[in-house]
Amino acid sequence: MSNFNRESVLSVHHWTDTLFSFTTTRDPSFRFRNGEFTMIGLKVGEKPLLRAYSVASANYEDRLEFFSIKVPDGPLTSRLQHLKEGDQVIVSRKATGTLVIDNLEDGRNLYLIGTGTGLAPFLSVIKDPETYERFEKVVLLHGCRRVAELAYGEMITEKLPNDELIGELVRNQLIYYPTVTRDPFRNRGRITDLINSGKLFSDIGLASLEPGRDRVMICGSPALVHDTRALLSGKGFAEGNHGEPGQFVVEKAFAER
Ligand SMILES: Cc1cc2nc3c(=O)[nH]c(=O)nc-3n(C[C@H](O)[C@H](O)[C@H](O)COP(=O)(O)OP(=O)(O)OC[C@H]3O[C@@H](n4cnc5c(N)ncnc54)[C@H](O)[C@@H]3O)c2cc1C
Repeated sequence: MSNFNRESVLSVHHWTDTLFSFTTTRDPSFRFRNGEFTMIGLKVGEKPLLRAYSVASANYEDRLEFFSIKVPDGPLTSRLQHLKEGDQVIVSRKATGTLVIDNLEDGRNLYLIGTGTGLAPFLSVIKDPETYERFEKVVLLHGCRRVAELAYGEMITEKLPNDELIGELVRNQLIYYPTVTRDPFRNRGRITDLINSGKLFSDIGLASLEPGRDRVMICGSPALVHDTRALLSGKGFAEGNHGEPGQFVVEKAFAER
């Protein structure tokens, strides 16, 4: 049996000239935990061209959703960005990854720190009722350069709070904090700076990060992952992984070429 399913594109949404999202059909046999990534791609000639992608839809939804960069000369995304309804994409039957709540020790508040397409795994984590059972407050931080890059803002602030399954949980427990570095906006600055200065905590009304109480997931550029890991380690947070739950977990949203 092949390790891959072929899925049909159901919808495509372009956020900016560098970011887009698409949904596909979902083979019912494809199982994943919220926060995991899988391999997806296109057939180029006779060969599949595959890349790692976080699943942005929740594991109880019947469609798959992906949130993608468009790298102008990127082998996959220079092609993927032209997807249209009805096109076929290849999706691995397996998913994996560290950004799952099972890899975290119990705690009171969960911070989800994503930059750029690093938001993607958290879109499924914030749709998971179990996230709200495990944590009292769930703080979703999304950092971008430009306001236009703050994809999914409306879904998070308008649609999810009215969702039949998780609306009440979202209304009571989710705090969404988008921030940009290059445009005027209500929240400005890099996430690590907002944490270090304490501005984030005074804005959201929670106490500063503390390993006895807070849990953190990080997904972004190699630089963000490096800086945030250093910041948390400096505060005494222990990193978790599959074998051993910890106080924070990380995943690079992409690898440097
Ligand atoms: C665990 C994991 C999960 C990932 N999840 C996603 C996801 O949900 N969405 C997504 O768009 N990409 C994701 N990526 C990156 C993805 O695998 C590809 O790198 C990306 O689709 C570009 O593919 P490409 O063949 O066009 O170019 P590549 O040759 O793969 O990349 C070219 C260069 O573009 C830059 N780049 C690649 N991806 C990104 C990105 N997402 N944001 C900013 N710069 C980038 C890097 O500098 C990279 O070296 C993930 C990567 C990993 C390792």
